[in-house]
Amino acid sequence: MVKSNTGWISNIQRYSLHDGPGIRTTVFMMGCPLRCAWCSNPEALSSEKQLMIFDQKCTLCGECIRVEPEAITLNNRLELSRAMIKDIEKLAQSCPYDVFEIIGNEMTVNELVDKCIKDEPFYRNSGGGVTFCGGDPIMHADFLVEVTKSLKSRGIHVTLDTSGGLPWDQWKELASEVDLVLYDLKLFDDEKHVQYTQSSNSVIYENLDHLA
Ligand code: SF4
Repeated sequence: MVKSNTGWISNIQRYSLHDGPGIRTTVFMMGCPLRCAWCSNPEALSSEKQLMIFDQKCTLCGECIRVEPEAITLNNRLELSRAMIKDIEKLAQSCPYDVFEIIGNEMTVNELVDKCIKDEPFYRNSGGGVTFCGGDPIMHADFLVEVTKSLKSRGIHVTLDTSGGLPWDQWKELASEVDLVLYDLKLFDDEKHVQYTQSSNSVIYENLDHLA
């Protein structure tokens, strides 16, 4: 779990209709303890910002080599050593063809709350609120406890959408603060769970007992 006064967010989706009751703002947190074979948000697996590469857009113009000469080679195609990159921000800005994109914004509690309360009238009129999903939001449990307290002090309903893959102690406070938990049990069979998510479901079952 990430210990921080800030959280990493891959996307904020307003006017969501399928992430809990009513009209909601869905906050996609970065980081996940599972590695599902069918993951629909692989860009959010890292707990911090990361570089996405769309190499099919590369024209081999060479601009990026000026800023990252040790990380990049162009031999009829773009070849990049992530371990050698010194500054992903500068690298992303160097390409005129949008080959690089940085996923992830680091936000404070107040910054995230300010974004979420923009649609407060919609929440009130529809019985909606804010949903944390990901990735898996329990990776940022301490941060989201503070966000949840602030939202609830304004009377905003908060939902946690999690696959429950971290020990209970790490996110029990968050579970007790939110109004609703959507529990995403991937597979009943542990052997298959390991096969398809690279993780046992034993802690996930234990956490389900705690929630029940
Ligand atoms: S700057 Fe962009 S388009 Fe040019 S070589 Fe680098 S990645 Fe390719």
